Amino acid sequence: MTYKGRFAPSPSGRLHFGSIVCAVAAFLRAKSQDGLCCLRIEDLDLERCKTGNTKAILDDLNTLGFVFDGEVLIQTQNTKRYLKQGDYLFTNNEAFYCSCTRALLKQRPCTCSSLHLEKSDNTALFYKVKNNKGSFNDALRGEVFVDNIQNTVCLIRKDGIISYNLACVTDDIDMGITEIVRGADLIDITPVQIEMYEAFKACKPNYLHIPLALMDENHKLSKQNHSKAALDLMAPEKVLIKALEFLNQDISNLHTLSCRQILQKAADRFTLSSINTTDKVISIN
Ligand SMILES: [Zn+2]
Repeated sequence: MTYKGRFAPSPSGRLHFGSIVCAVAAFLRAKSQDGLCCLRIEDLDLERCKTGNTKAILDDLNTLGFVFDGEVLIQTQNTKRYLKQGDYLFTNNEAFYCSCTRALLKQRPCTCSSLHLEKSDNTALFYKVKNNKGSFNDALRGEVFVDNIQNTVCLIRKDGIISYNLACVTDDIDMGITEIVRGADLIDITPVQIEMYEAFKACKPNYLHIPLALMDENHKLSKQNHSKAALDLMAPEKVLIKALEFLNQDISNLHTLSCRQILQKAADRFTLSSINTTDKVISIN
């Protein structure tokens, strides 16, 4: 089976260094195995994802020399599919509608799961998590154990916005993704996503969680932390080399090459085992 990976940024701003590390890792992991790497724009959270950001991200990726395979999947153009998958989980008793308000949930736990509520303007759809503990095999970390998993995971919010987990799992199944390379901040939700694959009767993919780039000991580099666009701080070639350095890859003889040549050469000599599993503080100024 051909390896098929993906990079799936959320366009809440231009690409920061942490996202570029993810893009580089996903791309090299695929290309080092003569595989495909697709691009998906996770723009469902409309409060965070402003129009225009998607183009800015596509421009940044283009400047960095990435050429992704197939058509770009834009999640806001695929909402009918997520609604259908949400209905499927509800019909199969894997999900339930909840009418609790936030104020009510502060006073008592939600019991809507046993009430068999129907879909309405006042209900949100939740996935019923089966196991509060789980484990999975990570290509970099080996067997990973997760406990204290929440009992329910939101699939569709009351305002109709599709939640991350429903869209992510649906797309990864539909796109035929064989391995998911992403940041270590998503380790904890992975057992729930694996359960959802089973609920959809789909084959689960492999997983590879790369370390996070941190601003300081406690903060992930992300757009919510107002991390600057990496390409505003450094030349694109330097950004790529810095990302490779973060991933402990061989960066010798790359300094005179173009972005595309850097990615090509880095894919040819990509070694998974060199990547650290611990998150690292990075200075990009
Ligand atoms: Zn409820």
